[in-house]
Amino acid sequence: MNIEKYDEIRTSLPDGVRLIAVSKFKPAEDIALLYQHGQRAFGENHAQEMKAKHEVLPKDIEWHFIGHLQTNKIKYIAPYVALIHSIDSFSLLKEVNKFAVKNERTIPCLLQFHIADEETKFGFSWEECVEMLQSPEFQQLKNVKIHGVMGMATFTDDQEQVRREFQHLHQIFEDLKTQYFSQNTDFKELSMGMTEDYPIAVAEGSTLIRIGSAIFGPRNYNV
Ligand SMILES: *Cc1c(COP(=O)(O)O)cnc(C)c1O
Repeated sequence: MNIEKYDEIRTSLPDGVRLIAVSKFKPAEDIALLYQHGQRAFGENHAQEMKAKHEVLPKDIEWHFIGHLQTNKIKYIAPYVALIHSIDSFSLLKEVNKFAVKNERTIPCLLQFHIADEETKFGFSWEECVEMLQSPEFQQLKNVKIHGVMGMATFTDDQEQVRREFQHLHQIFEDLKTQYFSQNTDFKELSMGMTEDYPIAVAEGSTLIRIGSAIFGPRNYNV
């Protein structure tokens, strides 16, 4: 773990930008160390892994879910998740609402948009999102609250392409805010930026950056 890098990133962030420490594939001990250093918001992309860590770590940790969420896994995170960044379909949002009702709470959510070139990435298109927002069924979801949008840029060395994709997401955020969420004061989060591209994301208006490997070191997916 690189505490110096963590401090460097934190002190470089302008007011209004929060750092989510992405701890996926990393042991609870690493999270505990960063917690002792003052970090409270952690991001995970597997529901069962998040649940296991939630059970053994301090209860004032804010757990952010950032990966593709399967509906049969919602139950592992619904009681305590602070923010789901990765709502990528209407059916997922409806299921999250059901589990929020069961847990007698409101679950804050971000709508994930597909802004990258890669087909493998998840997320709404503008048209899909509008169709959802205009449906009467959407209005009836009382236990989810939309706090903003999230997106991932293309994995490329072309910085200008990355910048354009973040600008596109920022525009989507503004358009949704004026057209659909002007009465929702919680609609204020623009989750974009990871280890390789967060300086561009911050320059383009990000409010939540999701940083993993710069802080915790490279991930070993084979363990
Ligand atoms: C893994 C992951 C991150 C963090 O990636 P790093 O490059 O390690 O900073 C951020 N966002 C999402 C959605 C991720 O899956």
